Amino acid sequence: MNLNQLIILVFGLLVTSGVEAESIRKEKPNYIVIFCDDLGYGDLGSFGHPTIRTPNLDKMAEEGQKWTNFYVSSSVCTPSRAGIMTGRLPIRNGMCSDNHRVIFPESKGGLPESEITFAKILSDHGYNTACIGKWHLGHEPQFLPTSHGFDYFYGLKYSNDMDRDPNIDYWKSCRHPKQEYFQISLYRNHEIVQEQAIQTELTKNYTKEAIAYIEKNKDKPFALYLAHAMPHVPLFRSDEFEGTSKRGRYGDVIEELDWSVGQVLKALRDNGLEKKTLVVFTSDNGPWLMFQSHGGSAGLLSGGKGSTYEGGMRVPTVFWGPGIVEPGVVMEMGSTLDLFPTFCALSGIDLPQDRIYDGSDLSPLLQGGHEPVRNEIIYYRGTKIYAVRKGKYKAHFLTKSGYGGDPLVVHETPLLYDLEVDPAERFDVASEHPDIIEEIKTFVDAHRSTLKPVTNQLDLY
Ligand code: MG
Repeated sequence: MNLNQLIILVFGLLVTSGVEAESIRKEKPNYIVIFCDDLGYGDLGSFGHPTIRTPNLDKMAEEGQKWTNFYVSSSVCTPSRAGIMTGRLPIRNGMCSDNHRVIFPESKGGLPESEITFAKILSDHGYNTACIGKWHLGHEPQFLPTSHGFDYFYGLKYSNDMDRDPNIDYWKSCRHPKQEYFQISLYRNHEIVQEQAIQTELTKNYTKEAIAYIEKNKDKPFALYLAHAMPHVPLFRSDEFEGTSKRGRYGDVIEELDWSVGQVLKALRDNGLEKKTLVVFTSDNGPWLMFQSHGGSAGLLSGGKGSTYEGGMRVPTVFWGPGIVEPGVVMEMGSTLDLFPTFCALSGIDLPQDRIYDGSDLSPLLQGGHEPVRNEIIYYRGTKIYAVRKGKYKAHFLTKSGYGGDPLVVHETPLLYDLEVDPAERFDVASEHPDIIEEIKTFVDAHRSTLKPVTNQLDLY
């Protein structure tokens, strides 16, 4: 063997021994988004719940960052999911409506093919991608996860209370749930694996799938979207978690989700991926208060799912990733809209220039910075702006409870709350700050000028 051959051989060995894989790794962390359904701001031990035990999430928050001002783009499932997937407000892609708040089994619409999900852009840059759990962005073939950048799908196409026995009263079926009331199917890619999903096993099965996926992809960058069915009503938990919580059935469900988080983080550690993976834990919207003890709690916040009060759209959020995330409590604003640009930034991917993004790159804050990366939150309900937060102030232009029969109230002078002093939105300070209201109105006008008419996907039947 001459010197040249030796150099080629050594180089080849270095490449195959993983030096190249390691350098790719440094540039491209893995991403896991654990997305709960209808989990309230006050439902975790670390966010103040007095009788739900969440030791794994509490530890995750201690080792990572607990975000106390983190928002979703809508207070209900479908538009909120469109936001986290695309980094764009649902008003930009027709995924919100004033007639149908979410996609129903009879709906024909879905996330337009022209939209780019975080899975799609990561997949285009060498990532393996999986959606394990609930989709709810359209169930026609062109709208499914596998048509939107995910290589793998295991889960439900929409909510676990849909496809129910029409002979059973909805309230009863959700307040006193039995397996036989619900017919929703569990899929693996395009195949049905359970004609009638066994709902008591969903959390456990999703967890098993997630662990297997992590193990299978330990040598390649991956993005895993783990979108739990729980704690959306009807509440189901496995036998091991029946009666474990002092908070009743709802608490049992959260404690099983907490167990699941512990298993996912353990799988990362077992596979040596804990320093190469950013994990985000959050919820798609606030608690469904009308289900009383079967709904969660927004803690000190007002309102819940369906409303544009803080309880509807501020969600308990934890970022974890030793080496990527500087531990601490972050009080700056963040949004699920920010995940898309954050993932792109951390992976060295340029944001597409052909569309408007509503998110900001959170990585400076994740890495211990204190400068805010966003200063506004827009609270849409359907296609209308109900409220806007700018800095610490939030103006309500329209108010209505999440699911109540109360009339819509139009506020000629918007209600104004200082959310830093008054997170529960109790003390209207509009008369003291007309200048702030003017600033917010100017911001709304500027935002509206960026909107273009689009097909309303939620009204297609
Ligand atoms: Mg939800």
